[in-house]
Amino acid sequence: MTSPRFIPVSEPDIGELEVRYVTEAVRSGWVSSIGPFVERFESDFAKFCQVKHAIAVSNGTTALHVALLALGVGPGDEVIIPDLTFVATGNAVLYCGAKPVLVDVSPDTWCIDPAEVEKAITTRTKVILPVHLYGHPADMDALLALARPRKIAVLEDAAEAHGAKCRGKVVGGIGDIGCFSFYGNKILTTGEGGMVTTNDDHLAARVRFLKDHAMDPKRRYFHPEVGYNYRMTNIQAALGCAQLERADELLAKRRGVMDAYREGLAGLDGVQLNPHASWADPVPWMVCLVQDRVPADVLAARLRDQGIDTRPFFVPMHELPTFRSALALALPQADRLAGRGLNLPMAASLDADCVSGILRPVRSALSAL
Ligand SMILES: *Cc1c(COP(=O)(O)O)cnc(C)c1O
Repeated sequence: MTSPRFIPVSEPDIGELEVRYVTEAVRSGWVSSIGPFVERFESDFAKFCQVKHAIAVSNGTTALHVALLALGVGPGDEVIIPDLTFVATGNAVLYCGAKPVLVDVSPDTWCIDPAEVEKAITTRTKVILPVHLYGHPADMDALLALARPRKIAVLEDAAEAHGAKCRGKVVGGIGDIGCFSFYGNKILTTGEGGMVTTNDDHLAARVRFLKDHAMDPKRRYFHPEVGYNYRMTNIQAALGCAQLERADELLAKRRGVMDAYREGLAGLDGVQLNPHASWADPVPWMVCLVQDRVPADVLAARLRDQGIDTRPFFVPMHELPTFRSALALALPQADRLAGRGLNLPMAASLDADCVSGILRPVRSALSAL
């Protein structure tokens, strides 16, 4: 029998505050990218990340593109990225005409492995681009120790990790520049949207310039370089301001959901949920189940029959046709995780009953051998 309710893998938590701010933005007539909510969202987000500058952009992919451009990345440069990530990370490197270098992830964090990064560094390496995958921070201290003496920049892809901490420091402000996404399935959403964060005044000014058609700040309609329209609208920012005011609440609810999953799956041998390194304060973006008992696609089909939506892990970049020519080292960890991983539903709005309703068929599928 099919369950009467469909549980999506992810769902935004939109409340009265969001409705109020968005209505206010629409009523004010400031519907495009000029308006008070954009500035407020930027300054509130900078505080949230404990960083000097936050620049709102149209989405997480454009955030990555403009951040790489601000770092001066172009043809001939190599950018080191993890093999296991969403395609946007690698695409942003391709947009710049640079070469992505695919590096394996660490089994402790599922993020780029600093020891593998060290092997991949060449004289052409311009940027190391760690991704704080599924809400767990990459080991930023180890990466910065490799990058700093070699004058290599570090760009954090924090699209999945709003508010996560690495040894007490909030992600997005640890490397030279950081990027966030506010897509509908992310921890905080603006529908579509993104943010670039940095403590560097020069990088901040370059991002502001490039994301708004590279217009000379002193001469209107004079554009000395090719720029982009990567702006966020005031309506999106209104939604973002409300989400950000509720960030503690949304994160606490998600932590409760993650704890319920951990309790419910405790005691099943060979079944792993999201990693949690001792030095890290991860945030729960997706619930990630990695196991050897049942093929991930079989488990996904069983759950779909019960009205429970899931997602496979990201396909490693080295399997994508557009990244075939990328440079790559051996990638066993990315392959292992991608082959066995499945994302289970996670949303701030999931209650304990819902989670036990999901865990019942998961446990029975994993136990019936
Ligand atoms: C979501 C995501 C992006 C891209 O964000 P969009 O806002 O969808 O463009 C980039 N990197 C990672 C790791 C993501 O998960």
